Amino acid sequence: DPRLEAISQAIRVVPHFPKKGIMFQDITTLLLDHKAFQDTVDIFVDRYRNMDISVVAGIEARGFMFGPSIALAIGAKFVPLRKPKKLPGKVICEEYELEYGTDCLEMQVDAVQPGDRALIVDDLVATGGTLSAAIRLLERMGAQVVECGCVVGLPEVKVIDT
Ligand code: IMP
Repeated sequence: DPRLEAISQAIRVVPHFPKKGIMFQDITTLLLDHKAFQDTVDIFVDRYRNMDISVVAGIEARGFMFGPSIALAIGAKFVPLRKPKKLPGKVICEEYELEYGTDCLEMQVDAVQPGDRALIVDDLVATGGTLSAAIRLLERMGAQVVECGCVVGLPEVKVIDT
C-alpha cells in the first residue's frame, strides 16, 4: 500500500523515552499530519467495514485516538478499556505483565453482550501482553474477538544499545 510509507514517516521515533534503551514510537506526530492520520483510519476502515464488527474496543490511552473514528465509520459501538479505577459502575478486570510488576485493564460489564463481534484497537503491539488482557476482557463477556488492529508492530526494535 503506497500510503504506508508516509504513515511510517509521520511517526516520530524518540530514543531513550520514557527511559534509557527504549526507542519510543510517538504517534502524536501522525495525528498532526492530516493526510497520514486520515489514511491510517481509512486503512483500518477498509479492512474492517465488511467484517460484521459490532464493537470496537480501544485501549487507554492511544487506542482512544484511533478507535472511535474507526467505530463510527464501520457502524460499530466504541468501548473504552481503561486503567484501574477510571470507569464507574460494575467492571471486570484483567491483569497483564509489565517489565516490573503488573497492571490491569478494566471494562464495564454492560458495554458488551454475548454475540458481539469485536475489534480491539491500540497504537502499538510489543509483547502482546496488553492485547491479550483486552482479548480476555471481551471473551469473558461472551464477545468474539475477530481481530486486533494496531498502527505499529515492532517488537524487534524495542530495545537499543545504551
Ligand atoms: P505490549 O503489551 O508489550 O504489547 O505493549 C503495548 C502497549 O505499550 C501499548 O498499549 C502501547 O501503547 C504501549 N507502548 C509500548 N511501547 C510503546 C511505544 O514505543 N510507543 C507507544 N506506545 C508504546
